[in-house]
Amino acid sequence: MKANNFPAKRRQLVLTGNLVGSLLPVAFFDADSTIRVTRSGKPSPHGRHDVIILPESFKKLEELVHKGYVLVIVSNQAGIDLGYISLAEVEEAFQETLHQFSRQGIFFNYYDFAEKKDENRKPEIEMARRLERKMKLNGKNIDWNKSFMVGDAGWKKGRDFRPDGSPGIDHSSSDRIFAENLARFHEGFAFFHAKDFFSQKSADILK
Ligand SMILES: [Mg+2]
Repeated sequence: MKANNFPAKRRQLVLTGNLVGSLLPVAFFDADSTIRVTRSGKPSPHGRHDVIILPESFKKLEELVHKGYVLVIVSNQAGIDLGYISLAEVEEAFQETLHQFSRQGIFFNYYDFAEKKDENRKPEIEMARRLERKMKLNGKNIDWNKSFMVGDAGWKKGRDFRPDGSPGIDHSSSDRIFAENLARFHEGFAFFHAKDFFSQKSADILK
């Protein structure tokens, strides 16, 4: 049986041929409402038939493949622990997500999700640290200065203000604060809001 060019399960690292050298930049992506939405309208897809990939993500991720980025998904899925969604539904939806990208020639190298409100859950950084350890075991280090996080949870409504001073409209700030928590250790690690990253005007974000 031919192996896929993407992880068969969460927390499995697959180093694809486009990743050259021992120091690699990592592009971390949130999943829900960043690169995919649901048919059902629920916050996270319940199984493979509920997955809709946001089409604007294909072109941008293809650029990252060509630039030699490690493509990673880090997702909060506390609905599992709360009983809203099953682990099997979440895993199946991730496999479908990676499969749809792979059909466009875009291979994610790694994905992880936090099913509990513990040290894995964004904005905590354990999901990134776990990846870092797995890369080290394969003789690879993260080029933090070129690495970044993209997510739709940037500036929380009713609490945060965006850099331009306008009030936040997001459901959470966990993706931005995840990036800021990493940047405390690794200066240069950046956060991009999904809306900015995938819009046309963001062409100059990645030089
Ligand atoms: Mg999200």
